[in-house]
Amino acid sequence: MSENKSYVVGFPRIGEERELKKVLELFWSKKCEFSEVESVALKLKQRHWAYQRDAGIDLISTNDFSLYDNMLDMIVTLGATPSRFASLKNEELYFSMARGNKDAVAMEMTKWFNTNYHYIVPELSLEDNYKLNATKIINEYKEAKEFGINAKINIIGPLTFLGLSKRQDGGDVYELYNKISPVYEELLEQISLLNEEIIVQIDEPILVKDLDTKVLSLVKPTYDKLALISSNIKIALVTYFEHSNEATKILVNTPIWALGLDFLHGSENKKGLETIAKSDKKLLAGVVDGRNIWKCDLEATSTLIKSITDVVKKEQVLLSTSCSLLHTPFSLKYEEKMDSEIKNWLSYAVEKIDELSLLTALTFEENLSEEQEELLQANKKANESRRTSALIHDKAVQTRVEERTKLSRDGVYEERIKIQKEQLGYEDLATTTIGSFPQTPEVRAARRSFKNGELEEVEYIKEMQNYIDECVVFQEECGLEVLVHGESERNDMVEYFGEQLKGYGFSQNGWVQSYGSRCVKPPFIYGDISRPQPMTVKWSSYAQSKTDKIMKGMLTGPVTILNWSFVRDDMARGDVSKQIALAICDEVDDLQNAGIKMIQVDEAAFKEGYPLRETKIPEYEAWAVRDFKIAVSSARVGTQIHTHMCYSEFNDIIRTIEAMDADVISIETARSGNELLKIFAEVGYKQEVGPGVYDIHSPRVPTVEEMVKQIESLLEVLPKEQLWINPDCGLKTRKWEEVKPSLINMVEAVKIVRATIA
Ligand code: GLN
Ligand code: ZN
Repeated sequence: MSENKSYVVGFPRIGEERELKKVLELFWSKKCEFSEVESVALKLKQRHWAYQRDAGIDLISTNDFSLYDNMLDMIVTLGATPSRFASLKNEELYFSMARGNKDAVAMEMTKWFNTNYHYIVPELSLEDNYKLNATKIINEYKEAKEFGINAKINIIGPLTFLGLSKRQDGGDVYELYNKISPVYEELLEQISLLNEEIIVQIDEPILVKDLDTKVLSLVKPTYDKLALISSNIKIALVTYFEHSNEATKILVNTPIWALGLDFLHGSENKKGLETIAKSDKKLLAGVVDGRNIWKCDLEATSTLIKSITDVVKKEQVLLSTSCSLLHTPFSLKYEEKMDSEIKNWLSYAVEKIDELSLLTALTFEENLSEEQEELLQANKKANESRRTSALIHDKAVQTRVEERTKLSRDGVYEERIKIQKEQLGYEDLATTTIGSFPQTPEVRAARRSFKNGELEEVEYIKEMQNYIDECVVFQEECGLEVLVHGESERNDMVEYFGEQLKGYGFSQNGWVQSYGSRCVKPPFIYGDISRPQPMTVKWSSYAQSKTDKIMKGMLTGPVTILNWSFVRDDMARGDVSKQIALAICDEVDDLQNAGIKMIQVDEAAFKEGYPLRETKIPEYEAWAVRDFKIAVSSARVGTQIHTHMCYSEFNDIIRTIEAMDADVISIETARSGNELLKIFAEVGYKQEVGPGVYDIHSPRVPTVEEMVKQIESLLEVLPKEQLWINPDCGLKTRKWEEVKPSLINMVEAVKIVRATIA
């Protein structure tokens, strides 16, 4: 067998036509048997193996597939089932852990590093006893073998598994190390029986974070041990999303076979090259971007590869994707409507493995075939077109960004708030909502028909206005003080703006798994961003015309727009964000000129964009804060700027939040009482705050009494002059039957509290 040179960390699994999603949802609604799920799953695995085999990839994964999540699979493999599911078995156990059942709440889910993929968080306890169940891993390996693929086996490593777990009693998860590691050893023993020689890919992305010495001190003993379990197992330890230089130094002195490093999102990994060169380790050089949708620039990537092989000899190097391709969509073949020039700049998973293959030939072979030469030329052309296309490069936008000198709004907070309170006349503990009201089936249907061209624009506008009317009537009746129009015209808070901005693209089938069967289709920023015309003014001013109360304008902020899109890779993220900020700034100005006096600029994804490494945080914060401030820099002193963030842990970033200088911020705190609000008081935060007083993620209607209590506990932390009263987040996923009584109770609760403190 010729030497292995190309390596794919993992492949997406939901299916290019979301087959897995569809069959899972049928099964969950009891419309098909589990065997049907299994047969679709097998077809998908085989198709994905075939894609990689046909692209000429040497090392292909098994166990990168999952019916829900790889962490959940690892929980099953290790027998780390929480006790509330103990009576269940097989698929019932598996899906109950993921989704809950009538007797037990689902396990928690959270974001996988800084991606938009969510994993199931293992719940561990000192009383646990773990027991190996290698069935899935072994079966998948055998399926691949039967299909003619001599595959590697992917598993999540013990350090990452523990690092991403939580302990019920809040204790240190690494105290369970001695219980977990024997199960890993046993797993490798079982794997070793499967073939004469097997590569096991152990994912340890935790090693790219700033690690404390305790975790680092576990690296060597763990891999000394695991790599020697059996002489026929070769361990490929794979990291991604950042550099892992601290761990690299340790790992080269363990008996692992190969080390996977991400040279795109962790370019500092280059500093570890000398160490690797001096060792006997193979280097899996992650050079094809697994987190973006752009066609690889093969010339530039060859230069990157050259800089690697200048240090580490070619015999030691394999070329790899930067991480699993899970974070990219499947295949461009379903993009039938996309502008052909733009489509020619893109590359999804299926196209990326071809790029990897071509790069491998370019790097390791003397001569390219005629076909490869042609592909190389086509790639050159596509990248040349990206460098010069008028669709991308807009001089007017660039000049405007360069010449912008007004970077923040006029007036300091103390001065602004005085004027605003006078002009706007809202009371202490003013009530409002976060923006969206329930998205009813009728609203969704109207939007869809309008998009498909089945509904005339005038008709569509009328329908949306009727909905706004209903929202206004309800809010007035219930006694809310600052109203919203309800966002019925928006499918999604980023897509809505993306669709109206120049430089933004949309795919037909660019689905990426977000969690379980759920996928998102992020829009993509391909060019310089500008705003051809106002985006929200007609809705907001219509809504304002229907009430004498204050109607809050509703925008999405530049950092959130950026963090929830695929972003062009030919420009720094901060520069892209600045262009978006100027577009939003124009919208703020148009809104205030149309008579809107309060404008909320949502930064729901502000925290998500934080880098994995401390040293990179100041740079992110610098441009993220700068661009929020630019986005609202057109607001006059009397125009009140609100922002909203969907999380509550502000301890690390409170100074940054303060620096954004919004007049009012609403945050998610209902589930944590007044605990998380305390930091605002501790640091002497001056601006106004709306801590959510009830959890909108649950269908439950909160009672007046509990919200009175909640408000009173907030008042223990901040004075009434500084507090707003609102739900935790937008209400679009809720039903009117839940929203109406909840808000009526919320307003009632405020009345009671006001009476007691008057
Ligand atoms: N204004 C948006 C809404 O109410 C905010 C959503 C969010 O924070 N994710 O839906
Ligand atoms: Zn929110």
